[in-house]
This record gives sequence, C-alpha cells and structure tokens, in this order.
Amino acid sequence: MRLLVTGRTDTGTVRKSNQDAIDWCVDEASGQALLVVADGMGGYQGGEEASRIAVETVMESLGPHLKAAAVADPRQTLVQGALDLASERIEARKAQAPDLAKMGTTIVLAWVSGSHALLAHIGDSRCYRLNSDGLQCQTRDDTVVQNMLEDGSIQQHDVPSVPFRNVLTRALGASDPAATFSELVLEPGDRLLLCSDGLTDALDEDEWLQLLSGSDSVQAGVEALIEASLERGAKDNVSVVLLTTN
Ligand code: CA
Repeated sequence: MRLLVTGRTDTGTVRKSNQDAIDWCVDEASGQALLVVADGMGGYQGGEEASRIAVETVMESLGPHLKAAAVADPRQTLVQGALDLASERIEARKAQAPDLAKMGTTIVLAWVSGSHALLAHIGDSRCYRLNSDGLQCQTRDDTVVQNMLEDGSIQQHDVPSVPFRNVLTRALGASDPAATFSELVLEPGDRLLLCSDGLTDALDEDEWLQLLSGSDSVQAGVEALIEASLERGAKDNVSVVLLTTN
C-alpha cells in the first residue's frame, strides 16, 4: 500500500498567531508514516511553544523508528515515551518562565505501518477515517462538553451555545500525559485526517467528503478544506494533516 501525506496549518482570519503545530514524515522503503497535529493553549506565546515542543519531540523520538521495518519495543510504548518526554520538556519550560505557567497542548498522532495504524491523542484534536462508508471520528474529545454529552446533561445541538465548550479535561504538559490509544486496519483507498478544532468549528463534517472528492490530489484536498474554512471566517487556527492510501 502506498502512503501519501500532506498537511497545512493556517492562522485563520481572526487570531494574530498560530498556536497549532503540525508535521509528518513518510518512509516509503518501510511503508510507514507518522502524522501529528498539536493545538497549544495558555496565551499565544505559551500555546505556540507548547505545540511546537510537542510536535518536535514526537518527530525527534519516533521519526528514526520509521526507517526500521520492526521495532524492539511495542509502538505504543515508544509513542507514550515520546509523549512523556514532550510533557517533561513543557513542564521544564514552564518552570523557567512564569508567564508560560498555563501552557499546554493537545496532541493527536497516527503511526501508520503498512495497513496498520496506531492512533494516540490527548485533548480535542481529532483523527477521522474517511472511506466509501463516509467519515468516522476515531478519537474521543477530552473535554467537559464531551463528558456532558455522554452523561446526557446536554444534547449535540446545545454544544455551540455552551460557553466553555473548548475547555479541555486533559492536555499535554498540563495533566497526566497518558494518551488514549486505538488501532485501525486500513483498506486501500482509506484516508486518515488529523485536525485541530479550528477545522471542526469552521466546517461541518458533512462538507469534508464533498470537498475532498472534488479534489484531484491529496494536496488539493487539504487546500480545499483550509480554504473553505477561511471562507467561513475561521475564527481559530486551522490545521489538517491528511494521509491517503492506494
Ligand atoms: Ca484550536
């Protein structure tokens, strides 16, 4: 199965800084790919630093393993080790600079190895699988709103009017860094989309497949999603990393 990945992050139309960070790498020889999206919080400087530290640490820790067809430790152990290190680095930075005391970041990552995908996340950045059955969110938001939806205290249609709808229950650098893991088997033609909440807030999920199917390349698909978000006024930073298989 051939893996193609591209991504883009945009400041959006309102914010002055981009606190999202993204990265990815593909090793064609081993048939592996690593995709990551982080959405920082804690003031614009803190948010930018936290998401950058998280993404850089993940790429630095896991990137070298992509070249190996087999790894000595289970991948989940390696991923959690990278997230523990990122959390330590964010905590260390906070200890140096009191004005960054509230910083932290969401993170969602996918480590694809052939047809197998390992997903890990903390916070409300999401991973979706897209295929002929449509679009299925693979991650559960670590948010107060998600807890309220599940305990029945609010309904989905109430979410846009909940004032604290972006409040996280967990964030890297601000809580226990243990990630939520899941695994997927990809079929040829499946796509994985990682995004920050700037995309979900700006564009209905129903529109994504239409925008992607009207695009003739993975790059054009990502551009179409970001441009449509900007046309809708994208109040938040918007980030997408998209993997296609064939
Ligand atoms: Ca955001």
